[in-house]
Amino acid sequence: MLPVELIKKKRDGQVLTKEEIHFFISEFLNEKITDYQMSALLMAIFFKGMTHEETLHLTHEMLHSGEVLDFSSLGRFCVDKHSTGGVGDKTSLILAPIVASLGIPVPMISGRGLGHTGGTLDKLEAIPGFNTQISLIDFKKLVEKYHIGLIGQTKTICPADKRIYALRDVTGTVESLPLICASIMSKKLAEGINGLVLDVKYGSGAFMKSQQDAKALALGLSQIAKGAGKKVVSLITNMSQPLGAFAGNSLETQECVEIMQGQKRLDKNGQNRYKETLDLSVELAAQMAHLATGNPIESCREQCLLAVTSGAALKTFEKIVEAQGGDLSKLPTPKCQLDILSLNAGFVESFDVEKIGWVNVSIGAGRRQVTDIIEPTAGIEFHAKIGDPVTVGSPLFTLYGDQISKLEKAKESLLNTIKISPQPQPPIQLISEVF
Ligand code: URA
Repeated sequence: MLPVELIKKKRDGQVLTKEEIHFFISEFLNEKITDYQMSALLMAIFFKGMTHEETLHLTHEMLHSGEVLDFSSLGRFCVDKHSTGGVGDKTSLILAPIVASLGIPVPMISGRGLGHTGGTLDKLEAIPGFNTQISLIDFKKLVEKYHIGLIGQTKTICPADKRIYALRDVTGTVESLPLICASIMSKKLAEGINGLVLDVKYGSGAFMKSQQDAKALALGLSQIAKGAGKKVVSLITNMSQPLGAFAGNSLETQECVEIMQGQKRLDKNGQNRYKETLDLSVELAAQMAHLATGNPIESCREQCLLAVTSGAALKTFEKIVEAQGGDLSKLPTPKCQLDILSLNAGFVESFDVEKIGWVNVSIGAGRRQVTDIIEPTAGIEFHAKIGDPVTVGSPLFTLYGDQISKLEKAKESLLNTIKISPQPQPPIQLISEVF
C-alpha cells in the first residue's frame, strides 16, 4: 500500500478499508508515514467524513496503539462518564465517589482544561499533594481497593491519539465528527470499562453550540461504544450558563466537598446555588449505576442521592484523596475577591459562557499554552442565573484569586458576558434528552 494512494482515495470521497486504516496508523507510529502525510489524510477526512465502519476501525487502531486496561479480574461491571466539557462542569468529583460508594468500580482517566473549559485533573490537583500521575499498576490497585481511581492520561494510553491530536490542533482539523469520536472513545475504551455515560453539552459554553450538533456527537460516540460491545447512555445537557456556583479549580473542588457534606449555598432570593451541580451529578451517577446493576433508574436515583445525604460519597472521596497523597484540609482559599454588580435592572437573559471561560483563563484558572501554570484559587462565583430577577447593584459575579490586579483587569470583560432583559425570562432546563 502507498500512503499517497490512500490519501487520494479519501480525498476523492471513497471508503477506506480496515486494512488500509491499520496500515496508515501503524506506519505513522513507526515513523514510515510522515506528519505531512498524516495531516493530508486528516484534512481529507475533515472534508469527506468517514462511514460508521471506518470510524470504528480508526477508533480500534488508536485504542490498540497503546495499553488497554483490563479489570475483568474484579468480576465487576466497571463504568465511567465522559463529558464534552464546559464551564463549572465539576460533576466527576461527586459522581465518581457516589458510584464507587455503591461498590461499582469507576476507573476514571481525566483530562486537563482544554481551551475555555476546565478539566477534572486541574481540579484534583488544586488539592495539595494529590497525585494524578501514578502508574497504571497502582491505578489498578486503587480501583481494586477503593472502587475508584482518578488519574490523568499516561504516555502508554492511546499514543496514536496523542500524536494525531497534536497535528489536528495545528492543521485546522479538530472539528471533524469522526476524528472527535475516535479520539474521545479510544481513550475511554482504554480504561477497560464495561459501560459509559455520556454528558454531551450544547450552548454558548460548549464545543457544540446547538442541541442538534450535540445530539449528532452523542450518537457518533454512543455508536462506537456500542460497536465495541459497551453499554452506553447519553444525556444532552445545557451549557448556556455555567454549571453550579463556581468555576475555578480550588473553588469547584470546595463546591463538591460542601455538596457532599450536605451544605447549601443560598443566594439572596433563597435559591440553593449548589442544586444544579448536585442534580446533574446524581442523575449521571444514577445512569452509571443503572448501566452497572440493571436496577430501575428510579431506585438508582434514590440510592445515589442517599450516598450524598448519608455521607458515604464524601467518605469515599476523602479515602481516595488520601490514598493519592492529597490533603483536603489544605485546599487553598483565595486571598482576594472582587464583586461585580449589575448596572441594570431586569431579568438575566443569557450568558456568553465561552467568554466567561476565557475570562477565567485570563485570571489564572486555565492555560493559554500547555506550559502555563494554573493559579488554583483563581475563579468566578455566579450569583445570578438565566431567568433570575436583578436590580441595579445586585451581585452578578465575584472574581477570586491571589492577585487583585488580575481581577480588576478582568472585571469589565466579565460584566460584558451577561445580558439583562427588561422582560421576564424562563429558566433553562438542565437536561434536555436522555437516550
Ligand atoms: N477531546 C478529545 O479528547 N478529542 C477531541 O478530538 C476533541 C475533544
